[in-house]
Amino acid sequence: MFTIRIGNKKIKLLNWLIFLIFVFLIIYIVGLIFFMLPIFTKTYNYKLEKENYVINSKVTFKNVWFTCKEKQEYVIKAEDKDIYNVLEKDLINDGFKKRKNKLIKISKSLGTCKDDRITYDKQHSSKYVLFKLNGKKEENLIYGNNYVENYVIAKINNKKVKNIIIKSNLNENKVGKYIISYTINISPCYKQRLYRKVNVIDDEKPVISLIGEKEMEIEYKDVYKEPGYSATDNYDGNITNKVNVKNKINSKKPGTYELVYSVKDSSSNNTSIKRIVKVKEKEIKTIKEKPQIKIKDGITYVNGVLLVNKTHCLPKDYDPKVNKTALKALKNMQSASKVVGLNLPLISGYRSYKTQNELYKKYVKKDGEEKANTYSAKPGCSEHQTGLAFDIGKVDSSFANTNEAKWIMENAHLYGFIVRYPKDKTNVTGYIYEPWHVRYLGVDIATKVWKSDLTLEEYLGIN
Ligand SMILES: [Zn+2]
Repeated sequence: MFTIRIGNKKIKLLNWLIFLIFVFLIIYIVGLIFFMLPIFTKTYNYKLEKENYVINSKVTFKNVWFTCKEKQEYVIKAEDKDIYNVLEKDLINDGFKKRKNKLIKISKSLGTCKDDRITYDKQHSSKYVLFKLNGKKEENLIYGNNYVENYVIAKINNKKVKNIIIKSNLNENKVGKYIISYTINISPCYKQRLYRKVNVIDDEKPVISLIGEKEMEIEYKDVYKEPGYSATDNYDGNITNKVNVKNKINSKKPGTYELVYSVKDSSSNNTSIKRIVKVKEKEIKTIKEKPQIKIKDGITYVNGVLLVNKTHCLPKDYDPKVNKTALKALKNMQSASKVVGLNLPLISGYRSYKTQNELYKKYVKKDGEEKANTYSAKPGCSEHQTGLAFDIGKVDSSFANTNEAKWIMENAHLYGFIVRYPKDKTNVTGYIYEPWHVRYLGVDIATKVWKSDLTLEEYLGIN
């Protein structure tokens, strides 16, 4: 079309005109693109501070060729861990995803960015949004009582918000921590929330009841037997099995002791009560009247108790073999010691006159008669010939310091035995301390002898 010619001048003017129109058209199109489809990226940082949490938010709007993208990054802080957990869960429900310590949401919306920005700006303004808890942010409620809801104060643009969404998992009958959430919609896209914590508590102490007397008396060396107790709690019910008893009774030491019974319920309410236990002074319970000594077939019985020592010996032909009752009792004692991790093997039990004779001769040859007499009996004068005496554990002075020897000392009477040659009683018994040598007397007499802290001779009153 530029080849049409109608005179030289006229053609030139038309070319210029076409050229100018063309240039204007290009400028116009470029301008149109530039002003109508702007590329912008705008970031808003804002801090939403509520009574129970702080949200630091970064919102970035990107508008690229009509595609509007919005990226929200939230960093939430809440002093209360329970509130934090619920808040975070709520935001995840709103479409946020957790990345490290941030909650991130990317949404695409076409052409709504402008409106969103206005909402964001307004949302920051406390003049525009008034949203706060009515009442305390954390409340205690005694379990079983009714919770009275205090609601929230909520105004947007000075208008009362009618639609407040309240969510709560509160169970007034169960001790625990509960969160009530209040949500208002500020715009179709933006919500604000508040949280209230309600602690359902039990502040009532449990009750301990003692069975038996509050003040008790026990004999010297008697084992304290707990008469029992029970504990109940308004919330937990029977908590007897949770009672802790502090027992520091030493029945070998006369005096007044306190037993402390304490219990804690599931809400850590503590109760403790005491029982007074008095350990009586030692009574020397010997046979006070003149002991009845009977000698039958050359065997000495004092008040019915067969007695063998250096002055009361047995006939050469007395050969009863091991006493079956005593042996059975020994086995029971050995089993009991095993239960507590100890080992008491039988070293020597019944010994006949003949055996004792050989043994004694051997010891005399080795150590001389005087020394042998301190640890070995002359034939006929050995308690082993009665079938009622046993050497257990280890026949050696080192045995005295073992747990086994200590256990025998404290428990042998329960099986009918006594440690026949106690410590520091050589002047009475004529023998060195023999922690391994036990003599069967039956539980009743053995216990009496044990409690008296005396030797058998002293107890029988024949010393
Ligand atoms: Zn012995």
